[in-house]
Amino acid sequence: DIAAGITAGGVVSVLAGLFLAGRALVPIRLSWEKQQRFVADASHELRTPTAVIHAQTEMLLRHPDRSIEEESPRIALVLQESKRMGKLLDDLLTLARSDSNQLQIHPSALDLASLLGEVTEAFRLLAGIKDIEMTTAVETPLSLWGEEARIRQLMAILLDNALKYTPPSGRIEVAGGYRGHAVYIRVTDNGSGISEEDLPHVFERFYRGDKARTRAEGGTGLGLSIAKWIVEEHGGSIQLVSLPDNGTRVEVLFPRSKRAEP
Ligand code: ADP
Repeated sequence: DIAAGITAGGVVSVLAGLFLAGRALVPIRLSWEKQQRFVADASHELRTPTAVIHAQTEMLLRHPDRSIEEESPRIALVLQESKRMGKLLDDLLTLARSDSNQLQIHPSALDLASLLGEVTEAFRLLAGIKDIEMTTAVETPLSLWGEEARIRQLMAILLDNALKYTPPSGRIEVAGGYRGHAVYIRVTDNGSGISEEDLPHVFERFYRGDKARTRAEGGTGLGLSIAKWIVEEHGGSIQLVSLPDNGTRVEVLFPRSKRAEP
């Protein structure tokens, strides 16, 4: 009860914070209705992990005689749900801060070719578990005027999605290079693709496609909203092309900057 009370109290104060942050930014970007929707959706998303943590900790307290070994599946579940809640709160905070213009990009000259190589390498391990082949086709040298942490976050969102929505034995390709006055990054997978009905909505907050909604490990529906914010803050654009059952291609275009190229 105590643990659940603390969790519920924490959630309520975070939501109150989001709500207040929301009130302060009425004229900035989102309409009042959209802000209310955002808070309502956020509360809804936080309900499931909170309920699981509540129920599981209550069970733990009810059986103090049981060993840690016996209870480890329950403890693992609490850990998993609290991690999920932490990720959700991080994402919510990013979006709330971006709405109120409290988050700014701090760009510098980036070696994008190396960055793409590193991020892909980090995901290769995860891909291996699903027997998914990951390839890269990146022009070198390739530079970008951008904020390293945000570009890494962007790539993590795109690769995480590609991995989630590609079945075992699939393929994911990360490509990058110059095209005219732009720097492009492309992530292509041969996974489930996105239906015509879902496609226009995927950048909306909390929107999850049909296939995603029915998945147990499904995300929060905030990934692509954050990706879009990162790209636009860098003066770029993001486009998603998908053919149902033929995979998905996400293409990001950034302005090419002389500041990035020595
Ligand atoms: P989620 O947490 O659900 O992945 P996102 O905002 O990252 O949220 O994506 C929104 C929706 O777009 C997903 O629910 C899914 O339906 C669709 N989507 C995104 N990336 C892909 C992909 N690579 N393949 C298939 N569907 C995708």
